[in-house]
Amino acid sequence: MSTKRPFWETVPLAKMSRAQWESLCDGCGKCCVNKLEDEETGEVFPTNVACNLLDGHTGRCRDYARRKTFVPECVRLTPEKLAGIEWLPSSCAYIRLSRGQGLPEWHHLITGDPESVHRAGASTRGWANSNTISWKTGRFEGGRYSFQPVSVTVASASPPLTNR
Ligand code: SF4
Repeated sequence: MSTKRPFWETVPLAKMSRAQWESLCDGCGKCCVNKLEDEETGEVFPTNVACNLLDGHTGRCRDYARRKTFVPECVRLTPEKLAGIEWLPSSCAYIRLSRGQGLPEWHHLITGDPESVHRAGASTRGWANSNTISWKTGRFEGGRYSFQPVSVTVASASPPLTNR
């Protein structure tokens, strides 16, 4: 049995190869939903309205390589940006590793199965899409999404506020 520790436990985020860095994304899709910010408290509330490019089934971008062409405001995550980003969920692999936490047990690098994030109820599958006209807001709690009884009125469709 191998005792070699996996790269995410031994290589700092800033030293990872591009392939290692990209493989950390668990495909939860939570960074790709529009969010609302309470102007007074700064608290960020995710909604069930997703970026047009989010694949609601896989939880991944449908055109990751060219996403900036279609969604110019999409943020490309880097190790340097992580500390200043308030809208990523606490379950995000990049956030967890930047805080010295390990990967969650359902992460595909541990299970070997990209479906495990969805089975664990830790992704946007089933509740977020880009075509919804019925906005809901909620909170990410314990890696899951819980809807809160908050009604939101929007005058017109908005572009995505935050994306990976
Ligand atoms: S929140 Fe983090 S782990 Fe989830 S899809 Fe976005 S970048 Fe990947």
